[in-house]
Amino acid sequence: MTKVATALRSQVEEEEPPGLITTRNEMIVEEEEPPGRTAVTDGTAVINENSFPTQIQQENWSDWKWQFRNRITTVEKLATLIPLSAKEKTQLKLVTAKYPLSVTPYYLSLINVYDPHDPIRKQAIPAFEEITLGHVGLEDPLGEKRDSVVPGLVHRYPDRVLMVLTDICPMLCRHCTRKREWHNGGWVHTPGEIKAMLDYIHKHKTIRDIILSGGDPLTLSTRRLEDVISKLRQIDHVEIIRIGTRFPVVLPQRIDDELCTMLSKYGPIWLNTQFNHHHEITPESAAACNRLLRAGIPVSNQSVLLRDINDTTEKQTKLCHGLLKIKVRPYYLFQCDEVQGTEHLRTSVETGLKIIEGMRGHTSGLAIPTFVIDLPEGGGKVPLQPNYVLTQTEEELVLRNYQGRFVWYRNPKDKASPELTTAAELDNPFVDSFNEAQRQLQPVRVRNENRARIRP
Ligand code: SF4
Repeated sequence: MTKVATALRSQVEEEEPPGLITTRNEMIVEEEEPPGRTAVTDGTAVINENSFPTQIQQENWSDWKWQFRNRITTVEKLATLIPLSAKEKTQLKLVTAKYPLSVTPYYLSLINVYDPHDPIRKQAIPAFEEITLGHVGLEDPLGEKRDSVVPGLVHRYPDRVLMVLTDICPMLCRHCTRKREWHNGGWVHTPGEIKAMLDYIHKHKTIRDIILSGGDPLTLSTRRLEDVISKLRQIDHVEIIRIGTRFPVVLPQRIDDELCTMLSKYGPIWLNTQFNHHHEITPESAAACNRLLRAGIPVSNQSVLLRDINDTTEKQTKLCHGLLKIKVRPYYLFQCDEVQGTEHLRTSVETGLKIIEGMRGHTSGLAIPTFVIDLPEGGGKVPLQPNYVLTQTEEELVLRNYQGRFVWYRNPKDKASPELTTAAELDNPFVDSFNEAQRQLQPVRVRNENRARIRP
């Protein structure tokens, strides 16, 4: 066993749980026994040979509570596990004084420690730019504080609410939108606070969709989570429960039989996770998604577009093809939010549009996520598409296909529209300017009464 391997084994197996997970109402993992464990043949598992050529007891490695307790949260500990120069250590200490570090042993094991540009490393290990560019961006870009109706409950859209149960995550993603919460040292909402959220939902009958979020809501013990979910299910007008979690990616062992059995009782439950790179698709994460699907919980992916991590068509295609192979639907590709401490990971909007354009036509629509900007100040999500409509009139459109060819398309008449046009609409300046825009398009219009045709 190498020196690094010996260090990993002794430190990771013997260390006490970090202080972060001790909370005021003990709602998280420590209070219950570990869930059922996977049988092993020889009692040990070899971890990613590129990164940690060591052995850890399989029993521990498969136990999500062990993984959670043994998160790497200090620069000193990290330095014993991956090679760090003196300069890197100094910079890491400066960054973590503002933005803490937390990585699960599982996720750390996915890093190729000899590649400074490793996509897993960039998501997990702090970069000096987090503070050197820390003045750029906003602390709370989505204006969540403003839309909080009771502590932890964000009500922005009429029919759905975001229920933030905790600010604790097993891994602190360097691009996190809620990075501002990391300073608060780890909290879980008290039973009283959760009751206040439930009371609000009870009273507001337009709310049909609940998103459980955080931090990561699966940080709560299965029993505590069931307590919240079962109460939500007792509210008649709550139709859908969604869970936003990165556990399938950063600590897939959490998705155990106990959790899946519990969730299967309270459907429909939809789970959104966040794979950002195809290296995150492993036998463990695939098995976690499979367990969820077998429990009747559809799994979708909401990835974040990240500079030098997944910002090419090739990488996104590999990611989305990998997701389809494990039966996870590529749902959203988010433009990275304008969060302080993340500027070095943000890309231009054009990058996202080029990726979508590069995928369209070259793979099935099922593999293509919707590219979205979540607008600042609570403006909501706006989907962006490459521009395929070159001109448009009441009669025809000129469209550009994925090969760059122009296609004329006859626009069927909407018979209902004249009857729906009211006097008020006719006086509407918007209608006037729209009609004027249409008139300006006339010179390029080509009559084609029968069908679309392809220009050579
Ligand atoms: S899992 Fe989500 S909330 Fe938690 S650190 Fe990562 S991005 Fe932020």
